[in-house]
Amino acid sequence: MRIAEIYSSIQGETQYAGLPCTLVRTTGCDLRCGYCDSAFAFHGGRDMTLEEIMAEVSRLGAPLVLLTGGEPMLQRELPELAGRLLSAGYRVMIETSGAHALDALPAGVVRVIDMKAPGSGESHRNRLDLLRDLRPGDAVKFVLEDEADYRWAVEMMGKHRLDHTCPVLFSPVHGRLAPTVLAEWILRDRLPVRMQVQLHKLLWGEGPGR
Ligand code: SF4
Repeated sequence: MRIAEIYSSIQGETQYAGLPCTLVRTTGCDLRCGYCDSAFAFHGGRDMTLEEIMAEVSRLGAPLVLLTGGEPMLQRELPELAGRLLSAGYRVMIETSGAHALDALPAGVVRVIDMKAPGSGESHRNRLDLLRDLRPGDAVKFVLEDEADYRWAVEMMGKHRLDHTCPVLFSPVHGRLAPTVLAEWILRDRLPVRMQVQLHKLLWGEGPGR
């Protein structure tokens, strides 16, 4: 597998935010969201065998592992890696754009599906079939950069009854939408969503390794 980095951090987002976690970041993404903060992972990295990845995850020691990118579903061996991690007793999560089929992932993987709002420039890539096939433990995330994105996400949530199915996560784009503004909208509209800020950025700023 092509790996950009493997490192220890605090889960910055998702329903497991705040927990120590090992992040396995794969190289490459087929989307180009306007606000992407992981562009350093579009290229480069190094080839690692599944055994080497397992050894590094074991060395870092956290019981929670997040498979992220880039876009992890572009890696052919990703489902097998997820299965091996689950068999070894880790809680395994994947953060993936809403643009890829997820059927190949073994049961037990917590799937955080990042549906792309219009402000990203990539909303045409969303696969709505993913929202009809949510599993227990999954979450749907919306990263929002303005009120138009917010209104779109509220509409998507209602149309697909997401709040009846799984945790729904709303995050402001760092530096583009003030967290306070998003919080006010959520309270005003009494939305049953979980708001998140990018905790890892508050702790360490932007860039690789955090
Ligand atoms: S899907 Fe993620 S990694 Fe890919 S361009 Fe969008 S934000 Fe960046």
